[in-house]
Amino acid sequence: MTQTDKYIVHFVGAGPGDVELITVKGARLLSEADVVVYTGSLVDRELVKTYAPNARFYDSASMNLEETTAALAEAVASGERAVRLHTGDPSIYGAIQEQMVELNRLGIDYEVIPGVTSAFAAAAALKQELTLPEVTQTVIITRLAGRTPVPEREKLSEVAKIGATMVIYLSVGMMENVVAELLQGAYTTATTVAVVAKASWKDQQIIEGTLADIAAKVKSAGIGKQAMIIVGDVLKARAEGVPERSKLYDKNFSHGCRASA
Ligand code: SAH
Repeated sequence: MTQTDKYIVHFVGAGPGDVELITVKGARLLSEADVVVYTGSLVDRELVKTYAPNARFYDSASMNLEETTAALAEAVASGERAVRLHTGDPSIYGAIQEQMVELNRLGIDYEVIPGVTSAFAAAAALKQELTLPEVTQTVIITRLAGRTPVPEREKLSEVAKIGATMVIYLSVGMMENVVAELLQGAYTTATTVAVVAKASWKDQQIIEGTLADIAAKVKSAGIGKQAMIIVGDVLKARAEGVPERSKLYDKNFSHGCRASA
């Protein structure tokens, strides 16, 4: 019996947005699915339609845990293949643990298929390595406290004391607070920072700056919620000796969309 012959729930990471950034396995499971419960607020509807044109859909944005669990459990009970589709990688701010606890309670088996998390899509968008020799060998995945609290010892200002590369999820709407907390750590107003909105989507936006000006730039660009903040000295490597200034629009600098003058 292959894995797909078993009627279990598959938690699938959809990746950050681009329909081609789902894994081959995730795409196959979607194409075989009868029922897909997906995070409509973040997963592109186009991705779901591309891979699972004939499945029944539930948008979990308007559902609670009991409802999503019931949709999955009913599908499995009636011999249907069920996929629970999450944005990025399911293990990062995906609220999958509580869903798995519920499935355990019901005696329903499940498997998790990883996905490309948005921090890595943002790094890819920036063409940026997050770990550089002599700069940092550590990447911290974190967020500001919002409606979901963050343990005191993990306050952004505390974690920022390490001075590593930080990828900050779920926080761009509180950009001024992010900056204030980072400045209480190892970073300074000269520290380079990038915000990538809708990484890998057609309308992806990249804002670059320093901790001195990033909040204003993010505000004037009208960046929405779906954005990643990347901060740390690794970003300086891209500016080749002019760390405070983006090379993106420098006439002597070439990138994917334009040759240098
Ligand atoms: N499981 C997801 C994260 C869900 S939390 C993952 O692995 O990516 C939602 C947060 O993820 C958003 O607030 C934003 O910070 C980030 N995010 C999701 N998709 C994004 C994208 N395409 N570009 C930039 N940030 C994104």
